[in-house]
Amino acid sequence: MNRYSAWAVFKNGLSGHRGWTRQWRDPEPKKAYDIVIVGAGLHGLATAYYLAKNHGLRNIAVLEKGWLGGGNAGRNTTIVRSNYMMPGNREFYEHSLKLWENLSHDLNYNVMFSQRYHVTLLHSPAARDAAARRYNTMRLTGSDGELWDLATLKAEIPHLNYNNARFPITGAAVQKRAGNARHDAIAWGYARAADSLGVDIIQNCEVTGVTRNGGEVSALETSRGTIAAKKVGFAVAGNSSRLWQMAGLGRLPIESHKLQAFVSEPLKPLLDHVVVFGVGGAHFYISQSDKGGMVFGGDLDWYKSYAQRGNLPMVQDVAECATSIMPCLGRVRLLRHWAGVMDMSMDGSPFICKTSLKNLYLNAGWNYGGFKASPASGWYFADLIANDRPDPVIENHDLERFRRGVNIDERGAGPDPKLHG
Ligand SMILES: Cc1cc2nc3c(=O)[nH]c(=O)nc-3n(C[C@H](O)[C@H](O)[C@H](O)COP(=O)(O)OP(=O)(O)OC[C@H]3O[C@@H](n4cnc5c(N)ncnc54)[C@H](O)[C@@H]3O)c2cc1C
Repeated sequence: MNRYSAWAVFKNGLSGHRGWTRQWRDPEPKKAYDIVIVGAGLHGLATAYYLAKNHGLRNIAVLEKGWLGGGNAGRNTTIVRSNYMMPGNREFYEHSLKLWENLSHDLNYNVMFSQRYHVTLLHSPAARDAAARRYNTMRLTGSDGELWDLATLKAEIPHLNYNNARFPITGAAVQKRAGNARHDAIAWGYARAADSLGVDIIQNCEVTGVTRNGGEVSALETSRGTIAAKKVGFAVAGNSSRLWQMAGLGRLPIESHKLQAFVSEPLKPLLDHVVVFGVGGAHFYISQSDKGGMVFGGDLDWYKSYAQRGNLPMVQDVAECATSIMPCLGRVRLLRHWAGVMDMSMDGSPFICKTSLKNLYLNAGWNYGGFKASPASGWYFADLIANDRPDPVIENHDLERFRRGVNIDERGAGPDPKLHG
């Protein structure tokens, strides 16, 4: 594998850039692997990378029905933050943010992580109280967070609607280490790094059936033949229920919903931060991409579907929110909108767990928040598969938690920033 560096750019510049090699191989699937991960989104690729890097395992394949990074990995609004409060979630997302902070170096790939502040607007005294509780908990447990009063917010972001907003803005809860990154880059970075450690990434390879031998999986039926595996991990996000049923396991506590994102025509630099129309207001957030487009995220489309396209009422809703908090966007033209399929769990928190089949592991239930989670998700899922037991951080991220009454519901802790990227 070429190592990417200033020297490599210089050297290849002298030879007309003919010295670069492919970023990853395109291998034929083998008949059998020690570990097969289904789904080459961010979670599947990160898992394969950490299985190889952290645990020294090599005979691994990642099977992808389309092209790698073509699912939600390439469709999200790229917000990265760790402003979670519930035990389990807060350690998990803080670990993820720490991995993000060194990811470009670790992968030798610029994932364009930009720590530009995540600013959640507050619209009522009750929202401020709830945010104070959450952000104080974050600070006490090793993360960062602060509250801004109205004067600070106005000085930092002058062009919000401070005069006539439907939900008056009273201040903000801010995580400065949060920000966003480039979604393609992280998928490609993980793919390249995993491939260089010997992982076979097999695209155009759809899993169509799961062959069981009693209480374990013996092989996967795929569009490119039967592939045997000693251990199997599902990391297929919005398609988790489909795979689950192929394994004959019934129903998951997951619903598949659509979530849309939007980008405007490019503008000159206007917004340095990620701004969330926040607690006590509507479901809407906004940031500006490196190319200048305003990136908007809204609420779910609110009907279950596997279609990767959205409906028009949500376009109207998002446009209303945008002009409500930033009236200066009124004449900006929307360039594109698209949708991804969300694996919505019943308490809004994910599953990284063993299953009732001895050698099958589940990574699912990422809701709106799986982009930021992908490094830690890969880290802990790889650890679970390699050691066949959950790390204490994820021990309540299992399917049995509802039976035990330990829902990890951030909503119950007050505000619900997971609704905003
Ligand atoms: C509009 C939108 C905005 C979002 N914004 C944010 C955000 O700002 N911040 C944040 O943290 N999160 C965000 N998310 C959520 C985040 O994108 C997802 O939670 C995360 O990408 C899911 O994990 P993944 O990348 O592994 O999924 P995916 O990329 O969907 O990967 C799953 C892969 O499995 C493959 N697959 C499915 N079935 C099969 C099969 N039978 N055989 C083989 N392969 C199969 C799919 O093709 C797909 O490539 C957003 C999502 C959307 C749609």
